[in-house]
Amino acid sequence: MAIADAAIEQLPPRALLIGDQEIVDTSGGEYQHVYAATGKPSATVPLAGRKEVDEAVAAARAALPGWKATPADQRRNLLLRMADLVEANAERLTAVNIVDTSTPMLVSAAQLSMTVDLLRYNAGWADKVGGEVHSTWPVPAVDYSLDEPYGVVGIIIPWNGPITSIGQILGPALAAGNCVVFKPSELAPFGALLMGRLFAEAGFPPGVVNVVPGGPDAGDAIVRHAGIDKVHFTGGGATARHILDATRDTLKPVGFELGGKSAMLVFDDANIDAAVGAAVAAVSINLSGQACITGSRILVQRSIYDDFVERTAQAAGQVPVGDPTDPTVTMGPVNNAGHCARILNTIRTAVDEKHGRLVAGGERLGGELADGFYIAPTVFADVDNGSSLAQQEVFGPVQTIIPFDTEKEAIAIANGTNYGLAAYIHTQEVGRVHRVAAALEAGNVWVNGGFGIPASVPFGGVKQSGYGRLGGIAGIREFSRPKNIWIGL
Ligand code: NAD
Repeated sequence: MAIADAAIEQLPPRALLIGDQEIVDTSGGEYQHVYAATGKPSATVPLAGRKEVDEAVAAARAALPGWKATPADQRRNLLLRMADLVEANAERLTAVNIVDTSTPMLVSAAQLSMTVDLLRYNAGWADKVGGEVHSTWPVPAVDYSLDEPYGVVGIIIPWNGPITSIGQILGPALAAGNCVVFKPSELAPFGALLMGRLFAEAGFPPGVVNVVPGGPDAGDAIVRHAGIDKVHFTGGGATARHILDATRDTLKPVGFELGGKSAMLVFDDANIDAAVGAAVAAVSINLSGQACITGSRILVQRSIYDDFVERTAQAAGQVPVGDPTDPTVTMGPVNNAGHCARILNTIRTAVDEKHGRLVAGGERLGGELADGFYIAPTVFADVDNGSSLAQQEVFGPVQTIIPFDTEKEAIAIANGTNYGLAAYIHTQEVGRVHRVAAALEAGNVWVNGGFGIPASVPFGGVKQSGYGRLGGIAGIREFSRPKNIWIGL
């Protein structure tokens, strides 16, 4: 296999970015990153400890008065310049993202385009929000509210899509006038470090964007820090619970973008080819199923069920899995050895405990892929919605199929989980589209397809998939709060 040596050479210098400093000697130790496609070490990265988090918060607080006072058109232009730089560096960023996450080139390139779009979209809000005028009574007065940034925002993200997260989360946070202490996961630190350098090159003042890759300790230091005014966290529910405990003393606001076990409802009038394609794509081209919005419970109406299962199993077996640097490959490995072992264990348990019937995949891939963390696209049919396979997020290439008879039953199964991030409907009946979309407990519903999350739409979860919204004006609102001013006349 063509190891991404050339890509590894394109990694940015491994140094934390704090204020105008590049920090190599850190208190958090060092992490040996492993390239998931080959299982071989790629590069080491210094990790932030509490000391570096303190320094990053100090740099952000020092930059805050100047950044808050920066006219909106200048903030807009800086974000637009950043978007241009990301576009100009797309090839290198794509290569770095492949090393970071092993996301295939095809998908990494699409993520880069999305990131440019997200930065431009959010730049556009910087000069279009500011406040509102309100009517008040009973005495004559003028009343208005100003949209103010929170101040210094701590942003913590997982390893699955670090570059896109920067467009999606740092984009609105910066447009709204916040300074940022940004912690990518130690499992995927390189893209974030390169983007941090591009923010500086674009002209963002030192301290406005600080990049501190680290593990749980660095994350904990950020969420507890009195100098952090708001936390925005993307990751798992267990970590979110730690964060709620850790923010108890400071009572700071937290936005949560968490996991999902999203249902895809396929009715008997659906375009079956499209629905089968979507069911397989959810756990293959969609980051090998390592995406929060993955539709990982496919609910299929009984009259088309057997045919659907057969076609899905067949299509899963045909997914081009392999070297992420190969432009024809649509599915790469999973992110790391521990995660690979966890997914294989979930599959074994599901087989042993008869959570469903294994109809495709189920094993780690061998041959020339044996050293990487590759798992065959896996499909279980006849899955019990009460089983752990159906209830717990696998975050890997494992699809589950569940039969249903009526619309009412499909909605009950779809909502029968603690999660509520995304949902998908395949049907041709317009009345059913509206009925079912209204009844589903999810932050976002896609009908008859969809391509990613457009920059202009609100995105986020209900139930244990989190709270807070990114995207559209909701994303700007997530990072600003109104201050009201009443003036008697
Ligand atoms: P994770 O919760 O283990 O880690 C996420 C981040 O939190 C990492 O940067 C990690 O270092 C940090 N962290 C760990 N312990 C911490 C602590 N005690 N305090 C503060 N920070 C801490 O999640 P993961 O395994 O990296 O990512 C997978 C999860 O992320 C899945 O559940 C997935 O669905 C979710 N996710 C959600 C979205 C969304 O937008 N809703 C997007 C992508 C991923």
